[in-house]
Amino acid sequence: MSAIINDIEIIKAKATKINDVDFDNLKFGHVFSDHMLECNYKNGNWEKPKVVPYQPITLDPSAKIFHYGQSVFEGMKAYKDTEGKVWLFRPLDNYKRLNISAKRLAIPELPEDYFMEGLKALLEVDEDWIPQNEGSSLYIRPFIFASGNGFHASPADAYKFIICTAPSGAYFAGEVKVLIEEKYSRSANGGVGYAKAGGNYAGQFYPTQLAVEKGYQQVIWTDDNTHEYIEEAGAMNIFVRINDTLITGPTSDRILDGITRKSIIELAKSEYIPVEVRKITVTEVVEAAKNGSLKEMFGAGTAAVISPISGFGYKEVDYDLPKLDNTYASFLKKCITDIQTNKTDDPFGWRYSVK
Ligand SMILES: *Cc1c(COP(=O)(O)O)cnc(C)c1O
Repeated sequence: MSAIINDIEIIKAKATKINDVDFDNLKFGHVFSDHMLECNYKNGNWEKPKVVPYQPITLDPSAKIFHYGQSVFEGMKAYKDTEGKVWLFRPLDNYKRLNISAKRLAIPELPEDYFMEGLKALLEVDEDWIPQNEGSSLYIRPFIFASGNGFHASPADAYKFIICTAPSGAYFAGEVKVLIEEKYSRSANGGVGYAKAGGNYAGQFYPTQLAVEKGYQQVIWTDDNTHEYIEEAGAMNIFVRINDTLITGPTSDRILDGITRKSIIELAKSEYIPVEVRKITVTEVVEAAKNGSLKEMFGAGTAAVISPISGFGYKEVDYDLPKLDNTYASFLKKCITDIQTNKTDDPFGWRYSVK
């Protein structure tokens, strides 16, 4: 899908909030930049996107987003290098995945230009909001939801595509202890697990709360049918290192096709790290933990890049992972963030210059 836009209307905020922000102590996704991109779908068409001041949205109480959960989103980041140049990481993959998610939720697909040119216009207007500090970035949240009205349980006739941005520090502090889930599921065959649909997250909150009450920070999702296969870590893809081999599950209806995941696979291969993309059983991981061959587990996703797991619980038993000096997790995270922030060559062509 393409549409050509030559100019994007920009309505500037009357005043900037930037002077209230402590860029040295940024949390994740807590403060929002001055502007947002807004684009409406009406009468069978996406209208031209506009950059407008960041502001509340007014919706009818019968808007279908509230009742039937038609909403999808993306998560990406913009980085500013030491020379002040602005970069994105594989943004077209986010655009494509947004449409894959939209299609599954019966949301009309968005033209590429509206996403890419809209995003670039927004980043230009809010360029000062892109942090330059080590580890910080501008988190970008594109999303589409059903703004059309009516209680009829059918797709809405109106939608909003919005991009908001939030200058952010690191997502997770420290290592996480996880619980391997034996009862609940986040996704199923034929379901929406591969889409970044808002409801997938809502469904994860309650089981995650139960895990938190037991002293864990996250849930390791297993397959809905047998709960014998390890699939994702919270809202991240999962990697397991047994001896020197890095293993991750194949993407499917149930496992989201993460951009960080596929970047890690390519990077690891290029660094001669043995990588296997195959199903991982819980039994295999528990056995490996017992015999000492389980070296690392980590989650992979845009927000945290790589989030190391320090141990896991399964059937009332806790297993600790060894504390290694040189982990794949820290090595691969550095490789990826160095590419993202223009500190190193990018042989893969992942880095995308905004200007
Ligand atoms: C977003 C997401 C990921 C990670 O995808 P990235 O493209 O790497 O950010 C993994 N799993 C789930 C369920 C997700 O929603």
